[in-house]
Amino acid sequence: MSRDGKKILRGVNLEVGDREIHSIIGANGAGKSTLAYTLMGLQGYEHEEGDIFFDGEDVAVLSITERARKGITLAWQEPARFEGLKVRDYLAIGARGNGGITEEEIKEALWKVDLKPEKYIDREVGEALSGGERKRIELASIITMRPKLAILDEPDSGIDVVSLKEIVSLIRALKENGSSVLVITHREEIAAASDKASLMCEGVILRSGDPIEISEFFKNRCIPCDSRVSPPK
Ligand code: ADP
Ligand code: MG
Ligand code: MG
Repeated sequence: MSRDGKKILRGVNLEVGDREIHSIIGANGAGKSTLAYTLMGLQGYEHEEGDIFFDGEDVAVLSITERARKGITLAWQEPARFEGLKVRDYLAIGARGNGGITEEEIKEALWKVDLKPEKYIDREVGEALSGGERKRIELASIITMRPKLAILDEPDSGIDVVSLKEIVSLIRALKENGSSVLVITHREEIAAASDKASLMCEGVILRSGDPIEISEFFKNRCIPCDSRVSPPK
């Protein structure tokens, strides 16, 4: 993946196992979101070399829609807004690929993200909701979608620190639901709850392994990419 002639992703060797929670740790600007978008196949994030294998199949040539159909999904760093779309319909759309969803299942997903169903199910996924509420609803949609691979780009951003535990239990719920989870995070608590972690720096996966070791290494040894590019004034 390049931008303005500069390679953003330069050496990504990454493997996420079946039903594995794998966290990607790295400083701001390391290329984590770019990696997430490239895996998902967003427009403007076409990969240039190497393979992206998913379930034994090279998906690098597939469109975002085709990848979504194969069971890959992405939760944005900034949750999306859908003015006019009700929460119940938003959650139902996500579940279409699994043969639909019942009202009970929609409510259950809302409970899992700590939103009272009766209070939220008929509201719009728009401006009237706070960023944190939209984030929760987006996470609920991933529960109802049951993807094979859920890519979460900093699920903790936009939510207060108090509910970090909730995010962790949600990620575990996704795994129990049958998904593999690739979670991009700055938070040690989330890394610690992962099965495996990879450290990313300047577009390179430097090492993969035990999450605690990787986050310790990141904390103690990693120079923020941003400060290397432009030293603080
Ligand atoms: P992270 O998610 O790890 O913070 P990003 O993937 O957002 O990192 O960014 C990686 C690098 O790519 C950064 O140096 C950033 O400035 C650059 N970059 C990202 N998006 C764009 C863009 N649309 N145009 C130009 N540069 C970009
Ligand atoms: Mg960033
Ligand atoms: Mg990012």
